[in-house]
Amino acid sequence: MESCIVQKYGGTSVGSIERIQAVADRIIETKREAKNVVVVVSAMGKTTDDLINMAKSIHDNPSSRELDQLLSTGEQISIALLAMAIEAKGSRAISLTGAQCGIVTDLVHKKARINEIKTNRLEKELGEGKVVIVAGFQGLNEYSDVTTLGRGGSDTTAVALAAVLKADRCEIYTDVDGVYTADPRKVESARLIPEISYDEVLELASLGAQVLHPRSIELARRYKVPLSVLSSFKKSKGTKIVEAKKMEKVEIRGVSLDDDIAKISMLEVPDRPGIAFKILSELAENHIHLDMILQNVNRNGVNDISFTVPMDDFQEAVTLCQKLAFEIGAQKVVYDQGVAKVSIVGTGIGTHAEIASKYFQTLYNLGINIQMISTSEIKLSSIIDGTCGEEALAALHDAFEL
Ligand code: ADP
Ligand code: ASP
Ligand code: MG
Repeated sequence: MESCIVQKYGGTSVGSIERIQAVADRIIETKREAKNVVVVVSAMGKTTDDLINMAKSIHDNPSSRELDQLLSTGEQISIALLAMAIEAKGSRAISLTGAQCGIVTDLVHKKARINEIKTNRLEKELGEGKVVIVAGFQGLNEYSDVTTLGRGGSDTTAVALAAVLKADRCEIYTDVDGVYTADPRKVESARLIPEISYDEVLELASLGAQVLHPRSIELARRYKVPLSVLSSFKKSKGTKIVEAKKMEKVEIRGVSLDDDIAKISMLEVPDRPGIAFKILSELAENHIHLDMILQNVNRNGVNDISFTVPMDDFQEAVTLCQKLAFEIGAQKVVYDQGVAKVSIVGTGIGTHAEIASKYFQTLYNLGINIQMISTSEIKLSSIIDGTCGEEALAALHDAFEL
């Protein structure tokens, strides 16, 4: 018998009373297999989106603190219902919010990081033989304010709990069978990947495959948490996340598309030392995560600086850039919300020139113009017009015979 299993069920997996009942059955089965079972759940179905829309119908730019207060209620509903469902079936369970579970985060609202998990309550309940159901995606900061970990953050709650409890395994249950070579909802021929390395799945997730929250993979890699992604709808093997194998040969593992981003450009920025530092450090201080950054060649002492940001940070980033443009004497700030990032991920991309050649040829064959490019040892990404995103994704999936 294993001693501890952590499972996480996403929004669709607990999207209705019937689904909650099915998940409760699966948990009861798991409890027969392991002494300690901790289950993290997301809010039911589209609850988080609905709460955000409600907030936005009241205030154009609601405060991050109040948003966290609001969003955390979604998970509070699903944990209580799931605990009741397990009890109704004759097993023992207790639900805990992030705060009750001792999840302590930093002060950043909407994308807080977990600093510590105080496990006394959790261990007491487990010791009494109960299944502990924990609200995903939330914690408490040092001022006792509720924080959330960013969209999709329940995966990170699960891995963090698995790490502190030194769980035998952490299973992420979702609405697809595992990690695929492309989003199976966008590319029909996408295939399930039975095994993938932490590094590769981290790139896929960071580049737009929302199947795992990127920070959950970073944590799993750091604390060597045995992680897998499985379907909550049927019994199958899913995808196992494993250590990278050393190999020279190039292997493309998947393609991904991120159309939840925007491009911001500062035009005619004075070209002198310290300017990039000022812009980028001020954005970083405001917790705005920049992705691709491009500075073009100097003409007459000025140049343009462009970068991409997640849509979630877009409003704040534009406001900040407009203030900065005024301070440093840049001519203006322009932006484009209609862009997408299309990427290929796999070992050896950086050292095999023929891969880049095939990637660019595929986009060229579709007549797609490339606005920005970024490469690393295991990925190649471009920013393109958002309306071409899905077509580019499918064509790359074909071209690399995934
Ligand atoms: P959950 O609510 O269970 O956390 P998410 O919606 O966050 O589920 O993540 C699962 C979704 O991720 C799938 O429904 C799928 O459309 C999408 N997805 C995107 N890229 C991939 C990929 N490469 N493999 C599997 N799923 C992917
Ligand atoms: N409910 C949150 C969201 O929709 C967290 C999660 O599902 O992981 O983003
Ligand atoms: Mg998710």
